[in-house]
Amino acid sequence: MLENFVLWLGGELVSAGSSLLDATKRVSVFYLLSALLFAALMMFWRYGSKGVKRLKPYLSWQVWWHPSARTDYQLWLANRLLLAVLIPKTLTQAVWISWLYFYWQEQGFTSLGLHWPTSIVIGLFTLCYFLVDDFSRFLVHWAMHKSPTLWSFHQVHHSAKVLTPFTVFRTHPVEGLLFFLRSMAAQSLVVSVFLVAFPNQVSLWQVFGVLVTTFIFNVLGANLRHSGVALSYGPRIEKWLISPAQHQVHHSVAREHYDRNFGVTLAIWDRLFGSWHKGHDDQVIRYGTGQNIDEMGLLGQWLQPFKDCFARVLCILKKLIPTGQKNAQPSKTAKGVPKWENVST
Ligand SMILES: [Zn+2]
Ligand SMILES: [Zn+2]
Repeated sequence: MLENFVLWLGGELVSAGSSLLDATKRVSVFYLLSALLFAALMMFWRYGSKGVKRLKPYLSWQVWWHPSARTDYQLWLANRLLLAVLIPKTLTQAVWISWLYFYWQEQGFTSLGLHWPTSIVIGLFTLCYFLVDDFSRFLVHWAMHKSPTLWSFHQVHHSAKVLTPFTVFRTHPVEGLLFFLRSMAAQSLVVSVFLVAFPNQVSLWQVFGVLVTTFIFNVLGANLRHSGVALSYGPRIEKWLISPAQHQVHHSVAREHYDRNFGVTLAIWDRLFGSWHKGHDDQVIRYGTGQNIDEMGLLGQWLQPFKDCFARVLCILKKLIPTGQKNAQPSKTAKGVPKWENVST
C-alpha cells in the first residue's frame, strides 16, 4: 500500500518536472524562452537598448523566489496531485465525445455526410474549436468574478503579489475542476458536431501536438501574461487580442481595474460585455486582492474559500432568522464582492 503510494507520488512528480521540457505544455522551457525573446525584441523595437533593460528586474531571484511565487509552485504540485485523485482517468475526452455523438443521433441528427474540400473543413473546424474554447473560458472566468461563491475560489488566483509564468497554476482545486469540465464540454461539443456533419474529415491543424492557434499564442508571449513585463500589443492589435499588459490590469488591486479583461486570447468578448480595458507598456500595477489571503500559504489558500462560503451561508441564515438586532449591511471590497461587516472573512 505505502509502496504503491510512493511509486504513484514519484511518478506524478516526475511527470510534473518533465512537463517543463514538453513542447505541448505552456510552461515548457521552450515557451518560456520564446516569451523572453519575444519581449526582448518588442522592447528593443520600441525603446532600443533601454527597452531591453526593462526586462532585467523580472529575471531576478527576488521575483522568482518571492513568497508569493513559492506559493505558486506549491499550488501547482499540490493541485496536480489532488486533481489526479479527484478526476477519474477514465473520464477522457473520447468518452465525452462519444456520449455527445450518440446524444445527437438520439435527437435525430444522424450523419449529414457533407463532403466539402478537406482544407475548408479543417480550417472551419480549427476556427470553431478555437472560438468556442476561447469564449467558454471567457464566460466561466466572467462568472467566477460575478458570483460571490465562485469568487471565493477564484480569489486564490488573484492573491498573487508577484506574477511569474507559474501563477497560471495558482488556482483553487475547485476552479481546476470547473475549468476541466469547461474544457471537456466545449471541446467535445465542437468535435461531436463536426463528426456528425463531416464524418472522416475532422482534424485539427497541429504544431508540436497542440492546436496551431494555441501554439502561436504560446510562442508569442502567453507566459508574459503572468509576469511583471508590461507589454501592450499597440493601438491596433490591442483591441482584438488580450495582451500581457491587459491581463496584468486584470490582476490589479486598484479599484478602477476591478472586473476588467476576462478574456484569454481574444479581446472581442470583453468589448462585447463592456469589460475591456486597454493595457500600456508604462503601466505600474500593484497585484493582489488587498485581502488577508494574499499572505497565506498553501493550506490557507485551500481552506480560506471554504471558510468564506461558510461565512456567507451563516450570514444568509442570520438574515432569515430574525434576532431582534439590526441586519448587517454589505460593503463593497475587492473585486466588487460584498464583505459582510459582521463576519470576519
Ligand atoms: Zn480573474
Ligand atoms: Zn491570471
